Amino acid sequence: MAVIGWIGLGNMGGPMTANLVKSGHTVRGFDLSSAALDAAVAAGVTSTASIAEAVAGADVVFTMLPKGEHARAVYLGDEGILASAASGTLLVDSSTIDIESAQALHDAAAAAGFRFVDAPVSGGMTGAQAATLTFMIGGESGAVADASVFIEAMSANIIPTGGATTGQAAKICNNLMLFINLAGVAEGATLADRLGLDKQVFWDIASVSSGDSWALRTWYPVAGPVPTSAANNDFAPTFTAELANKDVGLAIAAAKATDTPLEIGEHVQQLFQRLIDVGEGGKDCSKIVDLVNGTVPA
Ligand code: NAD
Repeated sequence: MAVIGWIGLGNMGGPMTANLVKSGHTVRGFDLSSAALDAAVAAGVTSTASIAEAVAGADVVFTMLPKGEHARAVYLGDEGILASAASGTLLVDSSTIDIESAQALHDAAAAAGFRFVDAPVSGGMTGAQAATLTFMIGGESGAVADASVFIEAMSANIIPTGGATTGQAAKICNNLMLFINLAGVAEGATLADRLGLDKQVFWDIASVSSGDSWALRTWYPVAGPVPTSAANNDFAPTFTAELANKDVGLAIAAAKATDTPLEIGEHVQQLFQRLIDVGEGGKDCSKIVDLVNGTVPA
């Protein structure tokens, strides 16, 4: 079994590392948040006090961080991974970040003698807990194959996407579709309620009809029909509105670079921005429903 260094033990990194521990690996974790670190330790992760301590002696290092700026700091900082890990260590970034940052990490890692893959995930917190995530992995094929050996304990699907940054490209396009779907589910659910439909009856219909989607089955933004919905828990975050805004923003930036019109995506990003503007960016992204039902003023 391997020694795995892991930086970023939040909503996703926490349950992902728990599954690595369950499958027999030693996971040496680090997070700036003591609450995140404590929760991971309760699941069997070994606590460390710095990036350098987490990556010492590791066969592979994973990162699961919010944004490109965090990933750049953790890899490229003075006391970051590239400065601290043994050269040749396999490095896997599973954060969802912008393509420019991902390319910068590939370039810097290669220049410093490391193998690096971009390996973002899909499946949400429920997929992280159930070890059913989809990993999309960009990079040199040997490094992708070696990373897949460790990824198996956290995933249902491992899909090589091609060269450097193609994992992030796939993830950005997937999440553009996800958040457009979520906005549609929020509108349909609210309208169904106003038309007098029972929420469970409408959900039962939509989930076996052409209105079905992952967002409907996992993040339904109305309390009751879906146990994994944050609406059952006052929108405590499983995926924050702040991160959703970031992800749609990544798609919009990539669309500008490729001259691709994203009219719907741009509108959906404005919805998440409105949640952030009224101080709700730390709540679950499914709280977008409150812009439709009027709980959060438009
Ligand atoms: P999160 O905010 O819950 O966790 C991120 C963790 O990184 C936090 O605990 C934070 O303290 C830590 N961190 C930030 N900077 C750090 C640093 N310099 N050193 C050490 N730790 C640091 O976020 P999350 O929901 O776990 O998402 C992580 C990534 O996964 C994001 O890129 C997100 O877009 C992506 N993602 C999230 C989901 C989801 O459903 N939550 C699904 C797929 C992908």
